[in-house]
Amino acid sequence: GGFQSMGLSYPVYKGVMKKGYKVPTPIQRKTVPVILDGKDIVAMARTGSGKTAAFLIPMFEKLKGPNAQTGARALILTPTRELALQTMRFTKELGRFTGLKTALILGGDGMDDQFAALHENPDIIIGTPGRLMHVIQQMDLKLQSVEYVVFDEADRLFEMGFAEQLTEIIRRLPDNRQSLLFSATLPKLLVEFARAGLTEPVLIRL
Ligand code: AMP
Repeated sequence: GGFQSMGLSYPVYKGVMKKGYKVPTPIQRKTVPVILDGKDIVAMARTGSGKTAAFLIPMFEKLKGPNAQTGARALILTPTRELALQTMRFTKELGRFTGLKTALILGGDGMDDQFAALHENPDIIIGTPGRLMHVIQQMDLKLQSVEYVVFDEADRLFEMGFAEQLTEIIRRLPDNRQSLLFSATLPKLLVEFARAGLTEPVLIRL
């Protein structure tokens, strides 16, 4: 099956084609249909596998189009500033025909621009857990509209010492969300985290 057999809406499909993707990568072929089906997943995938598009494409489908009436509906958590920036670039490129708005929340930059981005009713928040927790506390940011949460490079999220912030963030998400965890490795700690934070996740490995 190619991208045309995935039942993508035209703005999403067009973004994929403009990006020059001809066929889905193996991880995309395995994860996208399951995510589109609404399931939680734990996917073992490394950088370079096409994992970012694997969670962005179904996210665009789920969000359908911009909605400034609710809070953010998707949250992507990354271990580092570099990965957050790269994911933001991908979101803008692949999602360029969706009209969805994205805010980037990461450490190392001033808070003013990030507050301003949040005031513009983003549909998607991409961020690192430390700064996101800080923003949640400073500006009373609510996460109760989040329908779709991604823990990207989850093993590194834990290696970077974000366990406590992740628990705090999850506590603020609605129970009926869809949760996706992508990780190169699955240490015991992560399996326990997935058991506690995800609902009957489908395990996907290559
Ligand atoms: P990632 O693993 O998400 O960091 O992606 C690695 C690289 O693969 C990026 O440069 C993507 O733009 C590229 N990529 C992702 N999906 C595809 C695809 N289906 N066809 C060709 N390149 C892709």
